[in-house]
Amino acid sequence: MKKRLIIATRNAHKVDEIRAILNDFEVCDLSALEDPPEVEETGTTFLANATLKAVAISEITDALVLSDDSGLEVDALNGEPGVYSARYAGEEGNDALNNKKLLRELTGQDDRSARFRCVLVFAQGGESLAHFDGAVEGRILEEAKEGGGFGYDPLFAPEGFTESFAELGEEIKNTLSHRARALAKAAEWLNQQD
Ligand code: IMP
Repeated sequence: MKKRLIIATRNAHKVDEIRAILNDFEVCDLSALEDPPEVEETGTTFLANATLKAVAISEITDALVLSDDSGLEVDALNGEPGVYSARYAGEEGNDALNNKKLLRELTGQDDRSARFRCVLVFAQGGESLAHFDGAVEGRILEEAKEGGGFGYDPLFAPEGFTESFAELGEEIKNTLSHRARALAKAAEWLNQQD
């Protein structure tokens, strides 16, 4: 029988990517739980926020919980938007507004280097059990190149490619993304648990 994992996120794109990579596991989203709490991301690091989410959700289920906190660090912006990636254009913002703001902040900037980071935390019974990270280097394009994916995918070209993550599509993104790299380590850990 496949091991069951609850993913502590309301971001359906993250769940899809996790499900595609951890295909030996039964990956469930929060709809598997009754009344999951809204977890405020009050931490200042990816690890702190991922821990908050995984621990809070693991308090209302016996299942093993996995959370993902991730974001984009842009060198010319001193690592911004970082942990605030989802809220870069404000609490009421969205992916399109975040991308627009990022392009505006980088107007005339030659240094377009950036990376995505992902931190994954496993928790059960209100306790954090393990954490793993992953990163992918790349650059911010001069204009959005749409396709699949979510968030800043239309603006981010991973090292070695001229296309954005959005253009490259799920299959290629899932071989080299920050999330894929963290998930490879997480899968190894999962396979060692009984
Ligand atoms: P979180 O839900 O607080 O972890 O926020 C993650 C935010 O970082 C997302 O809303 C996106 O803006 C950005 N992000 C994280 N991972 C990705 C990715 O794989 N592609 C594009 N944007 C991402």
